[in-house]
Amino acid sequence: MTPDPDCLFCKIVAGDIPAEVVHQSERTVAFRDINPQAPLHVLVVPRAHEPNAAASAQADAAMFAEIATTARSVATAEGYNDYRLVFNTGAGVGQTVFHTHCHLLAGRPMTWPPG
Ligand code: C5P
Repeated sequence: MTPDPDCLFCKIVAGDIPAEVVHQSERTVAFRDINPQAPLHVLVVPRAHEPNAAASAQADAAMFAEIATTARSVATAEGYNDYRLVFNTGAGVGQTVFHTHCHLLAGRPMTWPPG
């Protein structure tokens, strides 16, 4: 899929905007969130631009397995067995960047339900 020239995460995937990349594969990139909400806060994104998780699922269902596997690899490498994965999907629940991304959060107690 063609990158969206206006998309921040497409620019990070392309290396045009700097980010602290912790993992890369043929189809995903994982980088540290610029405003971390936990001791470990990494975003796992598909290289292919889709605006949200629902659109990625429709375009490529296997992507979710890759994202989950990547998140587990990053968490394990950073010493965490317990972690939370979050896909904000839609502005109404706090999505601010409209390129599919999975928040990987770990390293502090977390409450449920989320705020
Ligand atoms: O789920 P949501 O769209 O709100 O998450 C976007 C995330 O992207 C935020 O956690 C924000 O801190 C992060 N971000 C980033 N690097 C940027 C811009 C935003 O890590 N350059």
